[in-house]
Amino acid sequence: MDKIWLCLAHMSESGEEMKYIREAFDTNWVVPLGPNVNGFEADLEAMCGHDKKVVALSSGTAAIHLALVLLGVGRDDEVICQSMTFSASANPIVYQGATPVFVDSEPNSWNMDPNLLEDAIRQSLTRTGRKPKAIIPVYLYGMPAYIDDIFDVANRYDIPVIEDAAEGFGSQWKGREVGTFGMFGIMSFNGNKMITTSGGGALICSTEEQKRRAMFFATQAREPMPYYLHREIGYNYRMSNICAGIGRGQMTILPDHLAHHRALCARYAEAFENVDGITVHTNPDERFNSNYWLSTILVDPARTGGVDYEALRIALDAAAIESRPLWKPMHTQPVFSGAPAVVNGVSENLFAKGLCLPSGPMVSDADADRVIDTILNIIKR
Ligand SMILES: *Cc1c(COP(=O)(O)O)cnc(C)c1O
Repeated sequence: MDKIWLCLAHMSESGEEMKYIREAFDTNWVVPLGPNVNGFEADLEAMCGHDKKVVALSSGTAAIHLALVLLGVGRDDEVICQSMTFSASANPIVYQGATPVFVDSEPNSWNMDPNLLEDAIRQSLTRTGRKPKAIIPVYLYGMPAYIDDIFDVANRYDIPVIEDAAEGFGSQWKGREVGTFGMFGIMSFNGNKMITTSGGGALICSTEEQKRRAMFFATQAREPMPYYLHREIGYNYRMSNICAGIGRGQMTILPDHLAHHRALCARYAEAFENVDGITVHTNPDERFNSNYWLSTILVDPARTGGVDYEALRIALDAAAIESRPLWKPMHTQPVFSGAPAVVNGVSENLFAKGLCLPSGPMVSDADADRVIDTILNIIKR
């Protein structure tokens, strides 16, 4: 039996990626700048619209880090971050010597609870006498957050938002691409994300000046002199022209990828619609348009006859199907045990019940049916 993987990269049938890579070799642009980088950034800016400026970088983590650098986040600062996420959302806060303040989720989108966000801002003000320097909401598994409500709070306190759209590439909130609402947004093109450059990311900026500053810091903060002059600490964060070539090729199949991820989630949702104790995570209302990067389910053992997500995971594994628990909330991670957190139990409940199912272009309808049958067999036993 062939193994069904959680989420594998998938190159275009027409080989667009190789075409751009070959071009880079043929023209000897095998460096962290060049026509593919410019072309990929232009593609991403066209996708974002709203006059956004995009900088292609070595990773999504680097993009979050640069956003914090541009906002002047440093020691003694606090930055608010969604607790239910991958550690890469929060790590760059610590790179800057600042303190993450974790905010729990609300149960519909699984993302940052706007009311708890306001509580966290108030507590931060009391604790430090100053406002948090930034707010980092996350679009888990591609699902947008309640973006209007989050920005309502952020704007009221005049705190910049860095949207972690690493998992939300191609998702929309009220018809607009996520990642384009905040002062900054970040994208990831890691191997398992919606599209890949083998490894890479991008920072979505609101102004040309921000883009210029981001490129400056991403290329070792070198001053424009004939010799190497440095007035600030820089980073080596630029995307290479080879990786950007893969990205340009991947952009040509993005619509196919999105359609496939969404169709797969619809297939799971239909199959489990009348199954007690299995709930597929879908758009809470018509304002949400998730890319369904990963299809996810909640498993309630009280209604499945005692089968919990871990029993399902083990049974799927035995059937050569990869699945994975949801992100373990950051406020429960040993490495962040000292960080302030405003919690309501939602993310811990999600972690106790949730499972990611095989998703993406390499999962065929027959594969999805094998996943579904395996799950139904265990529950009906
Ligand atoms: C993948 C991911 C990142 C980091 O992106 P990389 O390109 O892997 O550095 C950040 N946040 C979230 C939520 C992610 O899933």
